[in-house]
Amino acid sequence: MVYNTDMNTNKQVKIKTAIIGGGASGLFLATSLCANGGKIALFERGERVCRKLSATGNGQGNITNASVKTTPYFSFSERGGLCAEQLVRRYDEQSLCGFFQSLGLLIFFDERGRGYPTGRQASALTDALRFCAQEKGVLTYTGKQITDVKKIGDIFLLTAANGERFESENVVLCTGGKAAKNFGTDGTGYTIAQKLGHTLTPLYPSLVQLKTDLERIRSLKGIRVFDAAVTAKWQGQTGEQTRTIRGDIIFTDYGVSGDAVFRLSAFIADKKDAVLSVDFLPDVAEGALVAALRQKRKAFPTQERTELLCGIVNNQIGRAIMKTADDERAAANGVKSFPLRVRGTLGFDYAQVTKGGIKMDEVDENLQSKKVKGLYFAGEILDVDGECGGFNLQWAYASARTVAAAIDGKMEKGQG
Ligand SMILES: Cc1cc2nc3c(=O)[nH]c(=O)nc-3n(C[C@H](O)[C@H](O)[C@H](O)COP(=O)(O)OP(=O)(O)OC[C@H]3O[C@@H](n4cnc5c(N)ncnc54)[C@H](O)[C@@H]3O)c2cc1C
Repeated sequence: MVYNTDMNTNKQVKIKTAIIGGGASGLFLATSLCANGGKIALFERGERVCRKLSATGNGQGNITNASVKTTPYFSFSERGGLCAEQLVRRYDEQSLCGFFQSLGLLIFFDERGRGYPTGRQASALTDALRFCAQEKGVLTYTGKQITDVKKIGDIFLLTAANGERFESENVVLCTGGKAAKNFGTDGTGYTIAQKLGHTLTPLYPSLVQLKTDLERIRSLKGIRVFDAAVTAKWQGQTGEQTRTIRGDIIFTDYGVSGDAVFRLSAFIADKKDAVLSVDFLPDVAEGALVAALRQKRKAFPTQERTELLCGIVNNQIGRAIMKTADDERAAANGVKSFPLRVRGTLGFDYAQVTKGGIKMDEVDENLQSKKVKGLYFAGEILDVDGECGGFNLQWAYASARTVAAAIDGKMEKGQG
């Protein structure tokens, strides 16, 4: 029998499941687990749990999406994407809505299928989870960074940065990835997993701004186009792949940002050869634009050639296109397919999500380690990432629920 000190009562308690990381998946797990056969302990290195969750969706908490069941997940591991999709289908958006409803919080879906708490406050999600964990008697240790986990016999020994030690029968690594380190996620969780024998895929920032060639956009810094159609092209395993997203694009001194770019980055953040093509007038056919430009040229024959697109697209964008366009056809083509070679991303500090992680081939269908019995993973630490729109928090939820069911199931069968 293993005992640890409950900091609230100063009494000795047995920890059945130690959750490392008090982010979205850690709290989903803590609030889903049954507390049979020993306490649930949650270790968070920051002073508060779920700081990142409270900042999601521009502070409004885009927690899920109406199309989680039909949208693929990314993974470098052979069956990683498939496994994630199966788990997300099992614990889908309706399951998540029901879960939050049981915590007294309602979710609504906007016109793009994005799910938010009805009060449009991400902090409400954190509050509901925190309150539930407290009600359930979860031992929550904040300001406690776990630096090492060892398995000795049937027991895990956890060591904190201040040298304190804890013992537990199960350990779940919910330490997130490497993106947005200001929220406590600098990738140190990977080191714990690696010391336990796990391996990592390459890591890339995703849902992030893109660096591009700058020559054609130097004069465009600060310009935002509200409804462009941005297409990304890259070489996939089966030939050229393309993806078009409509939304904002913002020109910056490093490349491009904005909603459309952010969403596209999920597809190309790890690609070396990606190219963007921006359509500034997605609702106007190229032929119609050529005709309109010819008519304009006829009506105003003395107008400077460089001004041809003024009044049709943003003036500075128009002039940038006209630097290389000799006639109306080339001008229209510049408006409909403005090319930009991608030269990388702005990096992990600016990214919302990590692409890659602990290899999915090293965990079973319950997300239990195939290398160390009793060790589980949930959330972004695993080699699974999703598109922008609530898919990553849905993965945090589905993976945490999977682990909770496995640990509780194990206990029900008396194997725990
Ligand atoms: C600004 C921003 C906005 C986002 N918006 C959305 C959105 O609207 N919708 C969406 O689906 N996704 C969004 N995401 C992504 C989403 O928040 C993450 O994918 C999700 O939080 C991952 O959950 P997680 O539990 O795996 O990790 P996290 O939520 O990152 O939590 C990991 C926790 O572990 C702690 N930790 C790390 N190492 C240790 C250690 N050694 N010991 C103790 N504690 C440790 C960290 O401090 C952190 O609190 C956003 C991300 C960011 C940065």
